[in-house]
Amino acid sequence: MPKEGKVSPVFWQEKSLAEMDNKEWESLCDRCGLCCLYKIEDEETGAIAHTNVSCRLLDIKTCRCMKYKVRKLLVPDCIILTPQTAGEFKWLPSTCAYRLIAQGKDLPPWHPLKTKNEQSIHKAGISIQKIAVSEREAGDLEDHIIHWQILEE
Ligand code: SF4
Ligand code: SF4
Repeated sequence: MPKEGKVSPVFWQEKSLAEMDNKEWESLCDRCGLCCLYKIEDEETGAIAHTNVSCRLLDIKTCRCMKYKVRKLLVPDCIILTPQTAGEFKWLPSTCAYRLIAQGKDLPPWHPLKTKNEQSIHKAGISIQKIAVSEREAGDLEDHIIHWQILEE
């Protein structure tokens, strides 16, 4: 076990999600912003369409929530991930670190925990940085449907 205050360089390979402390848990997020994009559900068929419209609280440049600590208060639909809900992580993109670890997989090579570079997620083209439009200016969601394999797997 790492000493208190120190994070093992590969803690995600050594611990389950439930065993991680808050710092480790938060560092797992690669800040791709993909979980902050709106989806449209067909009421009759239940089919899901993905859009490039992001939540109004997402800073598209940094892919970070601008009100992270109070996000649930400001956006009641925002889903807060916890180890207890890991079994439901299938709605997340296939690249999401929480989903990967819940499935017993390793992090991808471009994950900032591996590269030690927060920009690597953007350089790898996995984040929403270059594709998102804020809901503040997007208009109809139906006009923003996208097809991206990592969202649909
Ligand atoms: S999809 Fe996963 S890794 Fe990406 S921002 Fe959301 S929680 Fe973080
Ligand atoms: S409130 Fe923040 S974390 Fe939740 S969907 Fe919006 S931008 Fe993402």
